[in-house]
Amino acid sequence: MQFNKEDFKKIVLDRLDKDYGRNIESATREEIYYSVSRAALSSIWSSWSERNKDLYKKDSKQAYYFSAEFLMGRAMSNNLVNLGILEGVKEVLNDLEVDFNMIEDTESDAGLGNGGLGRLAACFLDSLATLGLHGHGYGIRYKYGMFKQKIENGYQVEYPDNWLHYDDPWSVKREADSVEVNFYGHVDSFTDENGKLHFRTLNTEKVTAVPYDMPIIGYGNDIVNTLRLWEAHSPDGFELQLFNKEMYNESVEKKNRAEDISRVLYPSDLGPSGKTLRLRQQYFFSSASLYDIIRKYKTIYGNDFSHFHEKNVIQLNDTHPVIAIPELMRILIDEEYLDWDTAWQVCSKTFAYTNHTILAEALEKWPIDIISKLLPRIYQIIEEINRRFMSFVNSAYPGDWDRAQRMSIVSHGVVKMAWLAIAGTFSVNGVAALHTEILKNHELKDWYELFPEKFNNKTNGITQRRWLLKSNPELASFITKNIGDKWITEFSEMEKLLPLANDSKALKELMEIKHTKKVQLAEYIKEHNGVDVDPNSIFDIQIKRLHEYKRQLLNVFHIMYLYNRIKENPNMDFVPRTFIFGAKAASGYARAKQIIKLITRVGEVINNDKEINNKIKVVFIENYNVSVAEKLFPACDLSEQISTAGKEASGTGNMKFMVNGAVTIGTLDGANVEIVEEAGVQNAFIFGLKADQIQEINSTHSYNPLAELSINKDLKLVIDQLTNGYFGTDCINDFKPISDSLLYGVDGNRPDPYYVIKDFSEYCVAQDMASRAFTDKESWAKMSLINIAKSGKFSSDRTINQYAKEIWKIS
Ligand SMILES: *Cc1c(COP(=O)(O)O)cnc(C)c1O
Repeated sequence: MQFNKEDFKKIVLDRLDKDYGRNIESATREEIYYSVSRAALSSIWSSWSERNKDLYKKDSKQAYYFSAEFLMGRAMSNNLVNLGILEGVKEVLNDLEVDFNMIEDTESDAGLGNGGLGRLAACFLDSLATLGLHGHGYGIRYKYGMFKQKIENGYQVEYPDNWLHYDDPWSVKREADSVEVNFYGHVDSFTDENGKLHFRTLNTEKVTAVPYDMPIIGYGNDIVNTLRLWEAHSPDGFELQLFNKEMYNESVEKKNRAEDISRVLYPSDLGPSGKTLRLRQQYFFSSASLYDIIRKYKTIYGNDFSHFHEKNVIQLNDTHPVIAIPELMRILIDEEYLDWDTAWQVCSKTFAYTNHTILAEALEKWPIDIISKLLPRIYQIIEEINRRFMSFVNSAYPGDWDRAQRMSIVSHGVVKMAWLAIAGTFSVNGVAALHTEILKNHELKDWYELFPEKFNNKTNGITQRRWLLKSNPELASFITKNIGDKWITEFSEMEKLLPLANDSKALKELMEIKHTKKVQLAEYIKEHNGVDVDPNSIFDIQIKRLHEYKRQLLNVFHIMYLYNRIKENPNMDFVPRTFIFGAKAASGYARAKQIIKLITRVGEVINNDKEINNKIKVVFIENYNVSVAEKLFPACDLSEQISTAGKEASGTGNMKFMVNGAVTIGTLDGANVEIVEEAGVQNAFIFGLKADQIQEINSTHSYNPLAELSINKDLKLVIDQLTNGYFGTDCINDFKPISDSLLYGVDGNRPDPYYVIKDFSEYCVAQDMASRAFTDKESWAKMSLINIAKSGKFSSDRTINQYAKEIWKIS
């Protein structure tokens, strides 16, 4: 893109003047942020509208990514990077005596997602645009994204995330493309003049879906794709008659009910959310997006739907948008008058499904009474899908009633959305090799046996543009200096760094960069936590959602164990460590919140204990989100990826650490398996039970945590300290349930269901090896470099290329 500093400056100043009546001296930082963003946006209008024309062309197939979450983070800097004008814009602001970092920090994160699943969607969009593929996102424009986390007295407290407070310069409202979405009502049937039976839904509650488009800018290629997010409105606004009768609350009731749909992101990373409102959200954006796609399709092919799957493919990100399958059936049958079989052909050739979890509690099931009331016609269609599917199963496995029972989409009063997804799509993929194997051989075994051709693996990836080029410019320059800049769009180039593993000067430089990033993080920690941390200590980081299966508890138990050892022997040899955590707990997840309290309390005690002479520091970073993540990944030495084997589908945090030169301490779970395969087991610290061992122990019920504890007095002491008041008597109510769940099992669970006790001693051994390895600076640097050089596989460009070739068939 052509960039002229003076022109850009003029546009910014002009916007400040025309939009706000300000000059650069009087403008607020928000006004400057807005004007700079809009100035950048104005430079891509023509590329963007060119791109949109392709949506209406016969020969271009479009991929659509349907996702209830897009965890985009900040847009401005990333867009300036991809446009190749970041340095230029910095100079412009510098000329105007405005601090770029301050303007950057003005932007709120678009936190429209919970964690990995939503961030994956964001990385995919970046890769799609950069690879020049026709791929667009569809989702919900939540008014409030992921809650803001504050730590008060050591506890998580949640505050609303009003990210649109200052408006978003990167969204463009497209009122003219609004569509109507229908809820409730009753199903009516009638026969047409040819004697054909039809269905329609009468007396529905109508909600208007208004689209806002965000540009997704490819890196250095003038390509701008679209993320279209829907906002819910009441078609009639508020009711003036009621208002005039002074019935103020009643007058806005309908309006509020409609707007509730896009009001707030469900703050639940995992676990069921049996809320009707959540189903309303899912149907709302699925229906609106399908109408949008069909409208465009019909301008080319009219009522001929035989080409629909040649022109469109829709990837369903987990089960959240799976309601789109019966919705497309409804539109095709009730509104376009296709017969069932033809409509089913269209659907099952258009949709593909990604599974993100094997945790049983996270598989979505909708109670029949909720779905049949909210979406009566959709429920009828689901029943008919199931009726036909069951007869197919019965003919495939005559007499195997158990299997039919297990595979029934509707059973025991619920609709199983994952089953509907597999029945109604042509592709089912897991998100890491191990995960896909577990799906095929265990969780989805029946389904794999019936439809082996549908199953495939697409190991997740991350975009190196945000997670390296933008968030670690120091390391990015080092890489470019050594191998050129092709890696920015072809990440397999990273392997060319490998010869530097034997170049002491380069390794020293690499460690100096790491040190710089650690110093920057230390300043952030000083400012936000008031804690002094030593950049020469090991920065050991675990950042991810707080969940028992991710085992932050294992990490904090190890810290307690180290602390006990130092207290016993203050002069022991010890490699100083800074343990850093960042994690949000789902608001209703009590155990997760207790674990946060444990981490913060252990931190308070240790950080203030003069006796241990700063050997350990423990820091909990508040409000972990994309922007904070961008500061943490580059500053890490040791990446904690310690989930119970078989539980983490893939992980992507593990990949962000790797590209930034952290060494992994972890279990053979999710994509860790592939990370170790690439980097070599000697360049990671691997410990713990393997997934198949856990399967075995589970099925034979042979695990007895109390017996394990009786032979590990160090861990016994740690667990005793939860309830004996060692970390304060005021917290026993929070810590006792943790101890109970490990020792005795609570809420119908087995004791220690995540094998924290079982894996503890191996974890400590691995940790000790990591400490000793760190003392040899050059060999640590070499491990770090090899991790970076071998991270090429984990670019989302690779993942998206595989989706494009193997599932979507787009080029
Ligand atoms: C990458 C990322 C995640 C996912 O982390 P995992 O370790 O894979 O669970 C979650 N939240 C944010 C903000 C991220 O950037």
